[in-house]
Amino acid sequence: MGNRQIVLAERPVGPIDASTTRIVEAPLPHCGPGQALIRVGMLSIDPTIRTWMNDAPGYLAPIALGEVIRSSGAGVVTESNLDRYEVGDVVTGFTNWQEWVLADDQHPFRAVPKGLGLDLATVMNVLGATGVTAYFGLIEVGEFRSGDVVLVSGAAGATGSVVGQIAKARGARKVVGIAGGPAKCLEVVEEYGFDECLDYRESHLARRLHGACPDGVDLYFDNVGGAVLDAALSNIALHGRVVLCGAISQYNAMDRPPGIANTSMLIARRGLMRGFIILDYASRFPEAQRELAAMVANGSLRHREHLVAGLESAPEALNMLFSGANHGKTLVVVDDTVRLG
Ligand code: NDP
Repeated sequence: MGNRQIVLAERPVGPIDASTTRIVEAPLPHCGPGQALIRVGMLSIDPTIRTWMNDAPGYLAPIALGEVIRSSGAGVVTESNLDRYEVGDVVTGFTNWQEWVLADDQHPFRAVPKGLGLDLATVMNVLGATGVTAYFGLIEVGEFRSGDVVLVSGAAGATGSVVGQIAKARGARKVVGIAGGPAKCLEVVEEYGFDECLDYRESHLARRLHGACPDGVDLYFDNVGGAVLDAALSNIALHGRVVLCGAISQYNAMDRPPGIANTSMLIARRGLMRGFIILDYASRFPEAQRELAAMVANGSLRHREHLVAGLESAPEALNMLFSGANHGKTLVVVDDTVRLG
């Protein structure tokens, strides 16, 4: 038995294509002292993977040519020479795009608590990186206050859909989403309970935003950057806050992205714009996960997982995030026998 892996073959310019990655077969890793062997079950497909393919400075080193594509995921421990993992434990961490991975002190994994009563896809979504990003981004970085008018882009996506629902549950005055196309906008209102959702593909977004938020936006949670961020800035309320979570509209850019035109609105409205990386909150994940799990249990947090079958589909699944073909959290199922007990 070997270990199928997807490696970076070429640095992409624009969207990734068939020449960007290559499937290789490596030997099954040997589980040595101080190690545990993990069978990978599911991969979390995150827009940031595209940024790691560039040879550019970022919050983590670029993926080297020939290296397995970096990715978080979940798997089950099949052999263990470490006290902290037992055979049968389901764990999450950097699995990368491959079928097997070793855990050790340099590559730690977290065991998923037993008895959550949730399936693995839900755990990867709501209790995974995007769920906790929504939580800390809104509450800590954005300093959410009840009564805020909250605007969220990428509102039908994994992060954005959770941001809006937490804001609603914590007493936002109004929660407005931004998404691509009428079907997604309907989903944002009907499924995730936002008050309104605007289609960024239609013209005059800034003007329509003014109609939806006539007193201005107290907190804008930005998942997309670019022109949508500009439109939001032009509607920022006095002392408004902008959370820079992601800039997916820029990750595939072939040229240097154009600058943001409306930063002067932050001066006029005494606003604050702040970026963050969720890894900085790692020690506090359980705090967010407790609240998010409770919201799922009491029905106030709706969630959707978009499952794509097969390791070999991972590149295609990554591109779905950029075309908007995904509905909810995008996950690749590498081995569907890996499940939570
Ligand atoms: P999503 O599930 O939201 O999927 C991405 C969505 O982005 C697509 O469905 C699409 O929605 C939208 N999109 C794609 N291209 C564009 C574009 N040009 N303009 C506007 N919208 C676009 O992904 P995630 O929830 O995983 O990630 C959302 C954002 O959060 C990303 O920017 C990501 O990098 C960031 N992030 C940041 C973290 C941090 O630590 N700062 C941690 C996790 C995520 P539609 O169909 O509506 O266009």
